[in-house]
Amino acid sequence: RPLRVAIMGLGGYGTRVGEAMQSCRRAKLVGVISGTPSKIKAWQEKYNIPDKNCYNYENFDNIKENTDIDAVYVITPNALHHNHVIRAAKAGKHVICEKPMALNAKEGQDMVNACREANVKLLVGYRMHFEPKTLEIVRMRKEGEFGKILFFQGLSGFKIGDPNQWRLDKDLAGGGSLMDIGIYAINGARYMVGEEPVWVTAQETKTDPQKFKDGVDETIQFQMGFPSGAVASCLSTYNMNNLDRFFLNGEKGFAELQPSTGYGPIEGKTHIGPLTQPHKTHQTVQMDEMAGIILDGHKAIVPVDGVEGLKDLQIIDAIYEACRSGQKVSLQA
Ligand code: NAD
Repeated sequence: RPLRVAIMGLGGYGTRVGEAMQSCRRAKLVGVISGTPSKIKAWQEKYNIPDKNCYNYENFDNIKENTDIDAVYVITPNALHHNHVIRAAKAGKHVICEKPMALNAKEGQDMVNACREANVKLLVGYRMHFEPKTLEIVRMRKEGEFGKILFFQGLSGFKIGDPNQWRLDKDLAGGGSLMDIGIYAINGARYMVGEEPVWVTAQETKTDPQKFKDGVDETIQFQMGFPSGAVASCLSTYNMNNLDRFFLNGEKGFAELQPSTGYGPIEGKTHIGPLTQPHKTHQTVQMDEMAGIILDGHKAIVPVDGVEGLKDLQIIDAIYEACRSGQKVSLQA
């Protein structure tokens, strides 16, 4: 049987995931959770969702009694993930949560604990972990085709529009570009290099303090060091377009992706030639693979569980600390 999913948060990305799920073989959209009755009605009509599978933010704890829903996909603003994930877990549902999983590592740890206690799975919406060209580079790296890994560069950014959106509100976003697009460079460094960083340094710059208020980062450059001696140099920004590029360099070869994390198609090459794996809609592949993980205990090649999400949050905490203090911040290996 399919993984029967209710989407919570019917905004821009929730809409994209809902559409993509129509092509899934293993995952099925069966329910919605939203604070806007008109959106619920439109989704019900479009996707044939019964009344009994529709909830709002006040009554959604009752989803516990609903045996037709296996999992809740939380696609709300970042600051709400902690509450929404813990409530879904307490209702006995598996949870898929959008990135960043939470605002900081403390919240992330609470969420991992809550899902363990409720005996439900917690996965993070890391769609790149299932992307074929990305996975080919991971395979080549694991098989030693690049030799010893020496360097990663991750450039992640875009010029953000509307100054009144929640992404520029510290209370809802938890920060700025790093919480949104910069996390791709952090996460990418980890799966491309194949190690966990042991230190970070970081520098923040701001050209528009009106638009990017206190606690909302516009641009952060950060560096990471790995146990093998490999280093990473990354840029996270809300103030530049054309910035979606990964580069991995080893003693025997290199890989590059540009675009590296957009909705696709992803493009890239290695020292032996272009990457030719076909493009598939990321969210369709992600949801089918996640159904296999939740229902059949499959293991993802690049993990997507809550502990993975927590590792990125620990690095985010360290980067913000390094920006504040100007010091190198150590991380546990
Ligand atoms: P959005 O603003 O388009 O949608 C957010 C939804 O949450 C809206 O429907 C809004 O009504 C709802 N919401 C519920 N409670 C709210 C509240 N108190 N305040 C404001 N909105 C509230 O945002 P989005 O782009 O869909 O992003 C949602 C989440 O998805 C974020 O965590 C974001 O980082 C993540 N995301 C991930 C990807 C990806 O590629 N994996 C892409 C985009 C967004």
